[in-house]
Amino acid sequence: MNDIPVFKPLIGPDEIGAATQSLEMGWLGMGSYVAEFEEKIGEVINAPDRFVSAVSTGTAALHVALLVAGVKPGDEVIVSAFNCSADYQAISWVGADIVFCDCDDDTLEMDIDKAEALVSDKTKAIIIMDYDCIISDYDKVEAFANKHNLRVIHDACHSFGSFYKGKPVGSYSDICVFSFDPVKTITCLDGGAVVVRTEEEQKYVRELRLLGMQQPSEVMYQNKRAWTFDVERVGYRYHMLNLHAAIGVQQIAKLDQIRATRAAASKRYSERLASVAQVRTPNSSFDEVNPFLYYIRVPQEDRDDLRAYLKEKGIDTGIHWQPGHWFSLWKDCRKGDLSVTDAVGHEILSLPLHSMMELSVVDQVSDTIGDFFANKAA
Ligand SMILES: *Cc1c(COP(=O)(O)O)cnc(C)c1O
Repeated sequence: MNDIPVFKPLIGPDEIGAATQSLEMGWLGMGSYVAEFEEKIGEVINAPDRFVSAVSTGTAALHVALLVAGVKPGDEVIVSAFNCSADYQAISWVGADIVFCDCDDDTLEMDIDKAEALVSDKTKAIIIMDYDCIISDYDKVEAFANKHNLRVIHDACHSFGSFYKGKPVGSYSDICVFSFDPVKTITCLDGGAVVVRTEEEQKYVRELRLLGMQQPSEVMYQNKRAWTFDVERVGYRYHMLNLHAAIGVQQIAKLDQIRATRAAASKRYSERLASVAQVRTPNSSFDEVNPFLYYIRVPQEDRDDLRAYLKEKGIDTGIHWQPGHWFSLWKDCRKGDLSVTDAVGHEILSLPLHSMMELSVVDQVSDTIGDFFANKAA
């Protein structure tokens, strides 16, 4: 029997059919499917005052977001040390300096109270990130950003289809970034999106994603292109392809099902694991979220033994993440007290979570974790 994987893509006849159609259409690049995908994202975030642009990856979206925020070489960006390497790389790409902030012990979000002490006259922006089922407290983030005159990049790569205080993620932040990579809840194979507040910023995003070309999207969205246009600024090759967008459109059509089944599996994990004293489960009811992961925290000294035990029993696990300042490249970045992040980095463990997951698989994983700790006590 194959191991139970941590991630499992939900690709079926709808995605394969749409992919085939997009390949047969004769326009492989950015075109009509990308327009449709952006429209569907717009429907999910349901915000007439926000402007969506699809790009090639979530990391590209972060890079573009930092440029739109005006982050320049020598500026500082405050970011949680508990985040994805993509965020740190994107900060480096714009030539800015990373400043590591601790995360909160309960939510694993950036600890805004600790961020206060890290603000300097070089601070230009902060990156906040929704970790899995925990959505950042944006009201608090916004108050902090306004006080210090900072741009906010909201890394919502985990939280497409989730809600904050009843508002769809993507509808309320300064600049919001999504990922649709192979393991995300909604996948395009590879893809991302940048959501901004003005048409002017959207125009900039669209230049940045296509080599700086002032190529009207309306033309490209008809599977055509303009042959004469101007280039005023440095740009990148970050546009989304029709094939990817065609798959993304089919995935968004399943969003309700994806969200409901992932939330139900997460809830079941929390119920089943409540009786295991050594396991700390996420502080979430899973009611308004589309969970990307199911994570637990266990005592540091047990984490790697538990991983090995689960592997022996045919259950794969993951680690999201190793903290940023543990990597050679970023060990010397400016940082505050990172004691919570240092502990979390040794305690965190991602369990298998899939769309349409059978609850019996959740039970099997949970029981195996229970067995590990029971054996240990015996
Ligand atoms: C996946 C992810 C990214 C990067 O997105 P890609 O599409 O893989 O480039 C960035 N931040 C977070 C929090 C992520 O989970």
